[in-house]
Order: sequence, then C-alpha cells, then structure tokens
Amino acid sequence: MTNPATQAARAAFKQFLDRDLGLFVNGGPQRAHSGRWLDVFNPATGEPIARVPDADSVDVDRAVASAHEAFEQRRWSGLRPADRERILLQLADVLERHGEELAQLETLNQGKSINVARAIEVGATVEYVRYMAGWATKIHGETLDVSIPFPPGAKYTAFTRKEPVGVVAGIVPWNFPLMIAVWKLIPALAAGCTVVIKPSPETPLTALRLAELAIEAGIPPGVFNVVTGGRECGAALAAHPRIAKISFTGSTPTGKLVGAAALQNLTRFSLELGGKNPAVMLADVDVDQAIQGVLAGGFLNQGQVCAAVSRVYVHRSQYRRIADGLADIALQMKIGPGCDPDAQINPLVSAAHRERVERHIAVAKEAGLRFLAGGAAVEGPGFYVRPTVIADVPPDAAIIRDEVFGPVIALVPFDDPQDALRLANASPYGLAASLWTNDLRAAMNMVREIDAGTVWVNAHVPLDPNMPFGGMKQSGMGREFGKGAVESFTETKSICIAH
Ligand code: NAD
Repeated sequence: MTNPATQAARAAFKQFLDRDLGLFVNGGPQRAHSGRWLDVFNPATGEPIARVPDADSVDVDRAVASAHEAFEQRRWSGLRPADRERILLQLADVLERHGEELAQLETLNQGKSINVARAIEVGATVEYVRYMAGWATKIHGETLDVSIPFPPGAKYTAFTRKEPVGVVAGIVPWNFPLMIAVWKLIPALAAGCTVVIKPSPETPLTALRLAELAIEAGIPPGVFNVVTGGRECGAALAAHPRIAKISFTGSTPTGKLVGAAALQNLTRFSLELGGKNPAVMLADVDVDQAIQGVLAGGFLNQGQVCAAVSRVYVHRSQYRRIADGLADIALQMKIGPGCDPDAQINPLVSAAHRERVERHIAVAKEAGLRFLAGGAAVEGPGFYVRPTVIADVPPDAAIIRDEVFGPVIALVPFDDPQDALRLANASPYGLAASLWTNDLRAAMNMVREIDAGTVWVNAHVPLDPNMPFGGMKQSGMGREFGKGAVESFTETKSICIAH
C-alpha cells in the first residue's frame, strides 16, 4: 500500500503535469514562439506523460533577454551576499519540502529508481544547494603588493575583486536532470549571475518545477529562466552573444560543438563530458568490497552515469573470483520500473538510447566476447537492458574503447600493475577512475599516475560538493564543485590606486 506522503507527492506532480507547461521566463510560464511541442515519455512503459515547448532561437533570445535585464538591473547581484545566501538556503528548504514530489516526478520521467531519486537526485541536491549557498558570503579578492617604478616615488595600492560574469547558460543532459541543473544554477547564483537552464529534451520536467520553486523561495523573476528544447535550442543558447558563460554537461561531440560556438563570441565555457572509467584491482584487493563497489559504480542509474565504472582490470590471482562474483549478482538483479523500490535495474531513459546500448552489445557479440551475464534487452514495453558482465575482453576491443552509458561492465585480467596502469590510461577519456588495494605505497604511487579528474581508492562514484569534479583529456575542461566552481562564474578585476 502506498503511504500518505507518497500519495500526496503523486497528487502534486499530477497537478503539475495536468497544466499546460510553458517555457519559464521572467518569473512565470511563457508560450513558445516556435509553436512546436516535444512529447515527454515514461521510460518504464514508453507512454507519453506530458508535452513541453520545443523552443526556437526567438524563444532563446527572449529567455536570455529576461536574464540579461535581471542582471543589468542588479536584481540579484545587487542584494547583500548574506541575502543571496539566505534565499538560496530557503530554496534548499523548499526543495526538501517538495522532495518526495520531485523524486516521484524524476522517476516517472527519467526512469531511475525511486531510491536513487530520493537519495541522490533530491537528497544530495539539497545538500549541494546548502553547501553552495555558503559561498555567496565568502567570495573575496586579494590585496597585491606591486612594484610599479614610475613616476619616481609613487605609491600604489592594488587589489582584486571577483565580479559575477553575467548571464550564464546551463546545458544539461538527461541522466541526472534535477541534480545537474542545480550543479550549474546554484554556484552561478552564489556568484551573483543570472541563469538560463536548458534541460535535455528527454527529461525537462524537474527543471521547470525547480524554476517555480525558486520563485517560491524568493529568487527574483528573471534571475532563473528555463528553455526546453533540443539541438536547435541548445545551439542557439551556445551561440548567443549575450551569454557570458556556458556550463555544459553532455557528450564529448556535443561539447566540442558548444566550445566552438562559444569561441565565436569569446564566451567563457566549461565542459563536463563523457567518460570510459577504469577500475584497477591489485592482487591484495578486498574481493567482497570490490564486487560491491563495482556493482554500485557500474550499475547505478543503469550505468547512465558519466563517472560509472565500465572497464575493470583485475590482477589474475583474483580475476576468477571477481568475475564470478559480479556475474552471480548481475544474474539475480531484479529488473523493474523505478517506482518499485525493490527493483535494482530500471529502464534506460529512451527507446533511442536503448538501441544505442544494444548496438554496443551487438558489436561485442560479433567480436565473440564471453558474456557472463546479460547481453540483451528485455522484451515488452519499457526500455530495459539486462545488467551485463563481459569477461576476458581484449584491451583494444570496442566495448573497452567506446562510452556505452548503459549497464555494461567489461573485465580484463592483468599480471603486472604497470600494465594495468598503462591500459587504464590508454583512453581518450579521463573523467574518473578507481584503484582497489590496501597497499598504501602502491595506492599513493598509482593515484598520481592515473589520468583522471577524480581517483577513488576502494570506492567508485561517490561525489561531494567540496571535491572538485571534472575531466582530463576528452572528458572536458574546467571543474564543478568547491570554491573553484563559484569562482568560475566570476571575472577577476584588478584595481590599482596611485596615491
Ligand atoms: P548530449 O551531448 O546529446 O546532450 C546534452 C545537452 O546538450 C542536451 O540538453 C542537448 O539537448 C544539448 N544539445 C544538443 N546539441 C546541442 C548543440 N549543438 N549545442 C548546444 N547544446 C546541444 O548528451 P546526453 O545524451 O544528454 O547525455 C549523455 C552524455 O552526457 C554522455 O556522454 C555522458 O558521459 C555525458 N555526461 C557527462 C557528465 C559529466 O559530468 N562529465 C555528467 C552526465 C552526463
């Protein structure tokens, strides 16, 4: 039986879905100029659940104009930092109050487990908002000693100020729609910027609801706008001359397009892109801990996690135990809709994405690779793929090289840790990696050698708002989280006073 809180949350999001959803511009819903609509689906059934506007460049221009006017009028940056902090903390409280409604809505639209929606999409997001709110009152420049030699005898005092960069565009993927929108929105707001968020066309609902809740929390109209749409909308935003900074999360090919468009206007940008993340398990690995860690890091959100572990290099002495252990559990995982809290594998986000994942699996089968578990979609409605474990994979196989972004783990044995390190680094990506050992010396030496923006030891995937997150190589440019994230939404101004 569903409890009263769950029922109330369902009633709240049904009310939201029953509304005629618009773009969110200047503090309220706005009809799209484009006159086009995008259908939004429930991945567990394949049925449509809502429709949102498919914004064109005129719609993008209106949303940017709204954010630009709010910025020029200093509606947000003109507040005392303590007031910005207080309002962001209020937003955290509002999100927490509406947490069950947001979690249910995300599960319905994205397909993820309600447990993950509650704990991460909402729980971790609320903590992130509170963490970032605190930076609003801690932004500071420096005083600088300078040695300017003229005119003779002149004295100077120099200092820097961190000023908000202007209107920020946040372009968001579909895997953690609410959380990643917030990763962009809140540090930009803490810095005093105004924002236009573009969610993914597959998962636009929680961003629209977030915008309504932001107004409830006291964020002034125009400070946070949402445009829904696909490539045309994203490209118009990336190329808009009034955008001062783009914060993009998505695939590497799209990220390159965004970077190229941004350069035309010298718009600042940061890119959080794809990954093909290795786990390296040394001979002394704690087998049970490693199996649990790989399952959590590889199958969380059906592997639709940029930092998910997808290549597992295991010392040959432990290889059989780890391969069998992973396969045993994968074979028994319960598959079902995200609203079933006991289901461990839920649908992928869309039919198109399931097809992409199936193509990667088909290539692995054609190459004759050994499947210990999974390797197939599930018949029937909904976009399910079985959790898949592939063993004895040659280090240069396509399934090792290409980002799958699905529930697929490939295992490779090794004899020499230096070989494992070389294989782990033999990828164009460099987002995240993990090392599994209790040998302190080996761990301390190897973490320095791994090409990845984040390296975990005896864990894979936990993030923290205070821990910078982002990619090396083709996994991106710039870092989210921490003080650096807030500073990335500022310009440094030098002030030099002769006296
Ligand atoms: P995607 O690149 O297809 O789309 C990302 C966003 O960009 C969407 O909102 C999309 O509509 C928009 N877009 C599409 N074309 C555009 C254009 N020309 N200009 C501007 N915007 C455009 O990615 P996706 O399929 O939504 O997400 C999956 C990918 O995201 C995976 O590769 C994954 O690794 C990556 N990802 C990375 C991180 C990270 O933090 N590094 C986090 C989550 C996902």
